[in-house]
Amino acid sequence: MGWFRDWRRRRILGQVRLDASLWQQTLNRYDFLRALSQQERVRLRDRVVLFLHEKAMHGAGGLPLRDDMRIAIAAQACILILNLDIDFYRGWVDIIVYPDEFVAEYEFTDDDGVVHAVKEPMTGEAWLGGPLILSWADADGAGQGTGYNVVIHEFAHKIDMLNGDANGFPPLHADMNRNEWAQAFTVAYEKLCASLARGEETPIDAYASEDPSEFFAVMSEAFFELPAVVHDQYPDIYGQLSRFYRQDPAARLGRALDADASATARVRED
Ligand SMILES: [Zn+2]
Repeated sequence: MGWFRDWRRRRILGQVRLDASLWQQTLNRYDFLRALSQQERVRLRDRVVLFLHEKAMHGAGGLPLRDDMRIAIAAQACILILNLDIDFYRGWVDIIVYPDEFVAEYEFTDDDGVVHAVKEPMTGEAWLGGPLILSWADADGAGQGTGYNVVIHEFAHKIDMLNGDANGFPPLHADMNRNEWAQAFTVAYEKLCASLARGEETPIDAYASEDPSEFFAVMSEAFFELPAVVHDQYPDIYGQLSRFYRQDPAARLGRALDADASATARVRED
């Protein structure tokens, strides 16, 4: 069925156009998109068109979902798969967007067999084989250079879930080494937990210490939002994520900043 799917996708790409001004507005809105080359922008736009076609986005809690919001969410989701196949998001369809934090209610059984009913405010949630849920207030606030990005975070969980429950170990490419991945992530995770236990500040969100799946999701956020920090502070993780996502965002952002600086210098000379 591969040929039919490819033919269908080519047909969609040939027929569907994104609103050019909304698209430009989205690219300008986030540092990690502004830094893309022309070729990468075209590739991202194709991913976004297919993504919007294949996923169903619903506003919840009274949120009217506008096209600029859909495109903003799709563009952030697709930066992870810019150089991967859109099939990395296979097996589920629905994206539910709340205006702000939403309350998740669930039960879990602890080690003593006691069942706890939990009600807690969430900014995002990804279900295995099910929907992905986002708070628009949080999705809207991403890209401000803080490293926080709920869309990238939840979609990283979805990629992690391609081989079962989220555990920080997504299915690696054939040219990657499972031992190297495990080694890099285990060492960095334990180091982060130890430094938090000593009460130290950490270069990335402390939520990463929750468990290995959150560590992978938070590292993925930082990889795109603050690539220089991951590159300098967690070089082994940067190396693994770079091979996994097939991107080098630190180099890309560096080139974009250089270009901005020389443009500013030219303006000053004039
Ligand atoms: Zn998470």
